[in-house]
Amino acid sequence: MFNLILFGPPGSGKGTQSEKLMAKYGLKHLSTGDLLRSEISRQTPLGKEAQNFMDKGLLVPDEVVIGMISSALDDNPDAKGFLFDGFPRTSDQAKALDKLLKLKEAPIAAMLALEVSEEELIKRLLKRGETSGRSDDDNENVIRARIVEYRDKTAVVADYYKQFDKVVMVKGEGTVDEIFERLCTEIDKRA
Ligand code: ADP
Repeated sequence: MFNLILFGPPGSGKGTQSEKLMAKYGLKHLSTGDLLRSEISRQTPLGKEAQNFMDKGLLVPDEVVIGMISSALDDNPDAKGFLFDGFPRTSDQAKALDKLLKLKEAPIAAMLALEVSEEELIKRLLKRGETSGRSDDDNENVIRARIVEYRDKTAVVADYYKQFDKVVMVKGEGTVDEIFERLCTEIDKRA
């Protein structure tokens, strides 16, 4: 199994690059944001709980997303690898993921961390908000709250993987294809 984490702040291009990476490498894409939005659109109890946090730009509680990822792993027993997008987003999520993957004897090969300036992030998210229909993208205060959550709770997740020498920084500015090439170069070194 070949598992990757695509890491970076909101608006760094994780979703866009994930689409291209899963097509090229045949990995199963697991995006906690997408899974949560699907729960919300089906108005499940989990979705209703998550929405209160997401509307404010806050992280959804760890136990909720960890449970969701655990089920998603169980639902895909034949996957040749997973591409985690938007997860783990806290140190406790990272530790929980390690435990889940240990059971499957399938560690993380690398964390690819997209680097994008804050100014560019806000510009991209506001632009996406014009067309995505995502309510958390069309309000600058909610966008700023998400970036604060990233700085306070998520940035440390990279430190967690650095101790295992798993982190690869990748410049997340340029064209979509240029960034994709940079990611592929790093992945091919490790595949
Ligand atoms: P973005 O990276 O652009 O913020 P996502 O779709 O990854 O978009 O996440 C949208 C929202 O979903 C986050 O602001 C957060 O509220 C919630 N969310 C997604 N993944 C997680 C996670 N792993 N832990 C906690 N909350 C999450």
